[in-house]
Amino acid sequence: MNEARAGAIRTNKRHIDDVLNRLQWQQTKRKALEMRLANGRKWLKICGEFGLGLLCLIPFTPEEPCYISQDFCHKLVEDDIDAFHVLVEEKRQFIDRLCKFGTLMQDMLLKDQNIEFQCESSQVSPLIRYTEDDLLSFLEPVQHLEMNFYEPVDGWLKPRNWQWDWPMDPTWTPPDYTCDLCQATQCDCISNLPKNCYRIIQYGAKGRGIQARASSQGGLAFRKNEYIGELTGELVPPETYNNGMVLDFYRPVASLLDLKAFMLILS
Ligand SMILES: [Zn+2]
Repeated sequence: MNEARAGAIRTNKRHIDDVLNRLQWQQTKRKALEMRLANGRKWLKICGEFGLGLLCLIPFTPEEPCYISQDFCHKLVEDDIDAFHVLVEEKRQFIDRLCKFGTLMQDMLLKDQNIEFQCESSQVSPLIRYTEDDLLSFLEPVQHLEMNFYEPVDGWLKPRNWQWDWPMDPTWTPPDYTCDLCQATQCDCISNLPKNCYRIIQYGAKGRGIQARASSQGGLAFRKNEYIGELTGELVPPETYNNGMVLDFYRPVASLLDLKAFMLILS
């Protein structure tokens, strides 16, 4: 809507009609829509270069010590907003990092994204122990490897019955190896696995776990026997670690015993 306005003082009547139609609102709601658009533009101005993540940081309360109501923000004039931007510029980096967190929170709600933050899996109390930088880092998302990470390691012994060059990525598959899903030798099934169908959930004393989640209420997250995703992590030689965050992986070989080929550190 703002782009369609393209500098015009008032939003083009045709665009307002178009939005009313799309919202299936009667013409009687025209004034209400115009008011919302004006408020939306005000929010965009207030957020300025910080982006809409800033909205999550505004403590909407008319009570002390903030005295900030939604109405108060709507009534801000250009000079007020400029003065605000000058004030926050002094803490630019700090506010920027908080705004990034705000944007991610909005993505979780508006784009239905599953984001895990560092503070969810870290021991963050007592807060007094941490520097400002530490505290901000707790608000950053946990990074997960989207692909397995392999780096050759000195002393990584060639697995028994390994028939190819060594060292090499132990998840490598020969060109004539067929896909379990489509039986083709060259395919892209791995890219078409379900996405965004699970959430990382805290299950109290049991710790963290995965919960299947459909895209709509009452919908189906996974069909029976469906692959739920690709397990990824860092590949390391067998017996490197002995804790709950690694998995032993075995590689099927046509006529011989499975090969214990590598461990996967879960990311
Ligand atoms: Zn396939």
